[in-house]
Amino acid sequence: MNRRYMNHELNQTTSHLAKLISKGSFLRGNPVVMERVCGNKNCRCILEGKKHKSLYISKNKEGKRKMIYVPKRMEEEVRAKLDAYQKIKKLTEKVSEINYRKLEIEKKEKDV
Ligand SMILES: [Zn+2]
Repeated sequence: MNRRYMNHELNQTTSHLAKLISKGSFLRGNPVVMERVCGNKNCRCILEGKKHKSLYISKNKEGKRKMIYVPKRMEEEVRAKLDAYQKIKKLTEKVSEINYRKLEIEKKEKDV
């Protein structure tokens, strides 16, 4: 991989990352779907075994796991924000990897 291509990749990745971050619309955590029965004896969750599904965010902070309930009407929005965080994490890692490759190339250049 040549240097020009690497700089091009670095610019593209960085600008994609900057766009996602500047939106300010991300959540760190993992989506977890939990099933439950509601307690109503005439409900389909008891009668048909079709349990109610709810989305939660599993969030780790300082070694403690927290489950945060997400109301149905907010599920789509929350999932998009969780995805955005994962993308930011991936892109950050990619920028770092490109810079490691650049570092190796530049080290060789200076040794000559
Ligand atoms: Zn029910």
